[in-house]
Amino acid sequence: MKTITDLELENKKVLIRCDFNVPIKNGKIIDDTRIKESLKTINYCIEKNAKIILLSHLGRVKTESDKKDKTLKPIAKKLEKLLNKEIKFIPETRGKKLEDAVDSLKNGELLLIENTRFEDINGKKESSNDKELGKYWASLGDIFINDAFGTIHRKHASNVGIASNKDSAVGFLVEKELNVLSELKCPTKPFIIILGGSKVSDKIGVIKNLVKKADRILIGGGMAFTFLQSEGYNIGSSILDQDSLDFCRDILNKYPEKILLPVDVNVTTEFSNSTKNEVKDITEIADNEMGLDIGPNTITLYENYLKDAKTVLWNGPLGVYELNKYKKSTDEILKFLVDNNIKTILGGGDIVAAASNAKLNDKVYHASTGGGATLEYLEGKKLPGVEVIK
Ligand code: AMP
Repeated sequence: MKTITDLELENKKVLIRCDFNVPIKNGKIIDDTRIKESLKTINYCIEKNAKIILLSHLGRVKTESDKKDKTLKPIAKKLEKLLNKEIKFIPETRGKKLEDAVDSLKNGELLLIENTRFEDINGKKESSNDKELGKYWASLGDIFINDAFGTIHRKHASNVGIASNKDSAVGFLVEKELNVLSELKCPTKPFIIILGGSKVSDKIGVIKNLVKKADRILIGGGMAFTFLQSEGYNIGSSILDQDSLDFCRDILNKYPEKILLPVDVNVTTEFSNSTKNEVKDITEIADNEMGLDIGPNTITLYENYLKDAKTVLWNGPLGVYELNKYKKSTDEILKFLVDNNIKTILGGGDIVAAASNAKLNDKVYHASTGGGATLEYLEGKKLPGVEVIK
């Protein structure tokens, strides 16, 4: 597959699809990890004296009123600070103003196009990979670099559309993410997978694809309760993924030694920090109680397996980490892995956010910038953004 270093960038107009899809509250960026991760590719293009045209999506844009909160203007400001360089922000996704700005770019200068998903308002042009749109964006540059790992599993106009019309390569971030994930084809053993998060259904593909390769799969989070119910435990009012009960029962029957479930949980009666909570054995959950975190005996049990691991893959938090009372197991096991220097790959999304809150995300071996993309890769699916460049 072509990577950025295979292309001649000098004096060229280089389109870079970045992933600037970061959380923003009241116009302020809360976590700039994804922006920082894009800097290596951008700086390389600056050093090569390219004329740089940046594209990204931000959130979902369905109506005109969504535009106000989903503009990339705050991203341009943040990038200016991080790069210490002016960014020409064009509040349009097409048209003369954009084309003139592209034409007037000098070597080493940068321009940022408005949120690519503004094109979704009239007919989902970006998200449905509208042919005309991909061709139009491609016409603005000489070369295309896809460095947005977070959307590499999507077939959109701003990635697959442009790449179908231009000489293309992946950027440093996508290259790094793919290299790490490919290490999981032949992981150093023992290889342990930690799975949490809310729904079993989102993780079925990963379990099916990796259960043979993994030495253990440690289950936590909301999804643990569907597994527990399939084994006949009363899970009270804990989250249940009814449609996945049969899958849970079958996979536990097939791999009883490999798939481990919590032995105790932290329960409460309301989804809130303020109601009383209590640690209970999984045999003792009352009808009005919901489990929002795994308990201390489960943490010890899981750490006992993890201490010998040579590779750990982790997707989904083990409890409701957004509520202070229920982030203990996620934080503690993250810290355990870091302190014991265990090669750990965090599969994007909420577990990376949890690690970032605990200031541990840059201490693990790899924290992926793409949750959905990582899951699809681990399910053995092809990634359209990569395939088109291959
Ligand atoms: P996912 O996107 O499937 O990885 O799910 C992440 C979400 O799972 C987070 O927002 C967590 O708050 C949630 N979660 C983790 N543990 C539980 C639990 N015991 N009950 C309900 N939700 C949970």
